[in-house]
Amino acid sequence: MSAIKHNWTTQEILDIYNKPIMELLYEAATIHRLHHDPNTVQVSTLLSIKTGGCSEDCGYCPQAARYHTNVEGNDLMTVKQVKAQALRAKSGGSSRVCMGAAWRNVKDGEEFDQVLEMVRTINKLDMEVCCTLGMVTENQAKRLAEAGLYAYNHNLDSSEDYYKKVISTRGFEDRLQTIDNVRKTNVTVCSGGIIGMGEKVEDRAGMLVALSTLNPQPESTPINALVAVEGTPLENQEPIVIWDMIRMVATTRIIMPETQVRLSAGRTQMTQEGQTLCFFAGANSIFAGDKLLTTPNPDVSDDMKMFEILGLKPQKPFTKKAQPLTVEAADSTYEALGEKPKWTRPTHKIERNEQAKQNRKSSQ
Ligand code: SF4
Repeated sequence: MSAIKHNWTTQEILDIYNKPIMELLYEAATIHRLHHDPNTVQVSTLLSIKTGGCSEDCGYCPQAARYHTNVEGNDLMTVKQVKAQALRAKSGGSSRVCMGAAWRNVKDGEEFDQVLEMVRTINKLDMEVCCTLGMVTENQAKRLAEAGLYAYNHNLDSSEDYYKKVISTRGFEDRLQTIDNVRKTNVTVCSGGIIGMGEKVEDRAGMLVALSTLNPQPESTPINALVAVEGTPLENQEPIVIWDMIRMVATTRIIMPETQVRLSAGRTQMTQEGQTLCFFAGANSIFAGDKLLTTPNPDVSDDMKMFEILGLKPQKPFTKKAQPLTVEAADSTYEALGEKPKWTRPTHKIERNEQAKQNRKSSQ
């Protein structure tokens, strides 16, 4: 098995991305078979435990408070509600629950304590637990790890250059810092991005440079296709063509051979044949459930029918890494530090986000 390469350049990645499709598919599928069971796909359920009202300005996101979308905000779910949803996900074939909260960053306090309790509860159901809660400090990451967290998701979204055209309220370097904080624990890293936001192919390659040069590389990488939601600054973006998704998945598989590559947002726009080519090209994870936070996703029963047709099996939990232990709150060795970390407040403005702000004002 070849060693993992950590010094990929944009040009090397572009050379792979732009290969004739038959060569690209063959190479990606060959690498996939060396590192993974090609007939097994990990199934995760994404649960929005706190929806909407977010202070950030991510141009693709209907949960940003500043955009006019149909998303209805919800307070943090209770542990009981989350447990019921996790059990439903488990019976539907999911091995992982990913809990998402629309926060800029985690704040110590009652709500975070409640999330820690959710982590303990799901880990005790023998499911992998992932959280995506925004930026975290090292102490917060350690508290999550101690509760039994298996993975932390923090996407880079795009290349560092294009990121600045989509988000102006938080810095790319803070995202890397959060990943670094998670790496100081045993929690695995899930980090990927979105295509179809108007970026160039070079930006896609730039994002893959940023991900693949992390050492270690992320254990999982979601590749999302933008779901253009009315009311967001990116509402008028055309959907990507399937070949872009296939190329992106195949390239990710080749440069990050051990990573679980996840087909994430945008699957409702793909045919089964398109998704099949993505699995052949090295995708080995999907999000299940009829909603991905707030955007539509295929029905679980449709996914299971597709698995049956393709002869795919859902991956068992803790196949890649042992189940973490859960330490109860009363026995915790970490305290809430009440930190006020100085996460970056960039000063650049994004024209289309400013335009969205103007539209909002004029419609009030
Ligand atoms: S992507 Fe996350 S941080 Fe950005 S606006 Fe949406 S919920 Fe907030």
